[in-house]
Order: sequence, then C-alpha cells, then structure tokens
Amino acid sequence: MSNNETKENTMQDRRGLLIILSSPSGAGKSTLARRLMTWDESLKFSVSATTRAPRPGEEHGREYFFQTEDEFKQQVMDGEMLEHAHVFGNFYGSPAGPVRDTIVSGQDVLFDVDWQGEIQIRNSDLGKHALSIFILPPSIRELRRRLETRAQDSDDVISKRMLKSWDEISHWGYYDYVLINDDLDDTEAKLKTIIEAERMRRIQQPALQRHVRTLQTEFEELS
Ligand code: ADP
Ligand code: 5GP
Repeated sequence: MSNNETKENTMQDRRGLLIILSSPSGAGKSTLARRLMTWDESLKFSVSATTRAPRPGEEHGREYFFQTEDEFKQQVMDGEMLEHAHVFGNFYGSPAGPVRDTIVSGQDVLFDVDWQGEIQIRNSDLGKHALSIFILPPSIRELRRRLETRAQDSDDVISKRMLKSWDEISHWGYYDYVLINDDLDDTEAKLKTIIEAERMRRIQQPALQRHVRTLQTEFEELS
C-alpha cells in the first residue's frame, strides 16, 4: 500500500464529532456557528425542532423545524430525539437520525443547544464523540447590548433572555472548552484550533487500527 493510499483510507475512516456550542443567548454562538460552516463546508448543522414561532428571516428546515407541541411530543415518544429540553417556555430537540448518519460518514455535526442538551448528548451512546464548547460574553453589559443590537426580539423577550442568562452561564463547568467571545475573529480562530485538534483524537480515527496492523506486518517482515 502506498503512502497516499494509506492517507486516503485513514481520512475516509474518520468518525465525525458532535460539536456542541452553548452560551447565554446573545453571546455569539449562532454567528460563530455560521462562520465555522463557511470555513468548512463539510460541517453539518444539526437543525433542531422547536415549538417556538419563527423569527423574521428564519426558514423551516434551515434554522429550525417549526412544529406544534403535539408533533414535537410525538417525536419524543417515538424515540426520535437525541436530546430535548424546555427553554424559554418552548420545547427544543435534536433529531437523532441525521446525526448518526453524518458521523458514521466521517463528517462532524454542529449543535447549538443549551446546557441540558449538552448533558444529554454527553450521556447518550454517541457521547464519546462529543466535543463541547461554552461561549462566555466579555461582560453582562455587553451581552445585553448584543441582544439589543441584534434587534430580533421584543423588549419583553430580551428581558426574559437576560434573566435566564445566569442560569446558562452557571453551567459553564460542564464543558470541555470555554471561550470568552470578546473579539469575534479571535474566538473563531480558537474554535478552529480546538476542532482541528479534536478531530485527531484516537477514537475519531478508527482506521488507525488498520494502519497499525499494516505497520506490524511490515515490522515482522523486516525483522
Ligand atoms: P446567540 O446565537 O448566542 O444568541 P448571536 O450570534 O445571534 O448570539 O449574536 C448576538 C449579536 O451579537 C449579533 O448581532 C452578533 O452579530 C453580535 N456579536 C456576536 N459576537 C460578537 C463579538 N465578538 N463582538 C461584537 N458583537 C458580536
Ligand atoms: P433561540 O430560540 O434563541 O433560537 O434558542 C434559545 C435557546 O435554545 C438557545 O440557548 C439554544 O442553544 C437552545 N436550543 C436550540 N435548539 C436546541 C435543541 O435542540 N436542544 C436544546 N437542548 N436546546 C436548544
């Protein structure tokens, strides 16, 4: 087997990561997720189901699958959700099927879920492939400013999100990595470094076993 062939097989046999991004609302995780997907087009965003109403510009099947409460509960009962939670008075959940198919094909899945989702994914049968990153704002004042300048929510919704922000921040210690999103470019660069390193975890590279067996055969032939 040539070096090139070995390299190609190893790449094909990569197992995808479940990359979980969480933060208090407004800290910048959707912006960062969008940037990561531009950086690497093979990253698949896990489109969650939700019972909340679409915001202006949001499309069914792109940002979320917008569902009624009955539809959502049926999916949960049918065991189709990898995780699900009640956040800001609405249900949110990650459909399991597309995640399983994607990671087996060697591509990573990006999740924008809250801390409850992170714990459930980590405790699921796919947990060993999870990589979780928590995004902190530089200050609470700046968090509020970002929510206001995003101008997607009413004052009432912004206040509700601000009240919930401490609850989300208080779970920062459950995550593998924690980044302070002060400068966007800097945070994006750090995220890329983390992902590139985590892709090389032994468990993400099942083809290594075959490579080591080849090395062993060669070693025995030469000794
Ligand atoms: P989240 O998905 O965490 O709720 P968003 O990605 O929607 O947050 O970001 C909220 C707002 O803050 C957006 O208007 C976004 O452009 C802005 N933003 C994100 N990161 C930064 C940053 N590092 N500096 C300044 N503004 C930012
Ligand atoms: P938003 O309504 O602003 O899009 O999302 C509100 C919160 O719900 C965010 O903290 C987001 O991370 C979280 N969220 C979105 N989708 C899911 C999901 O599928 N599962 C869980 N647990 N949380 C989600």
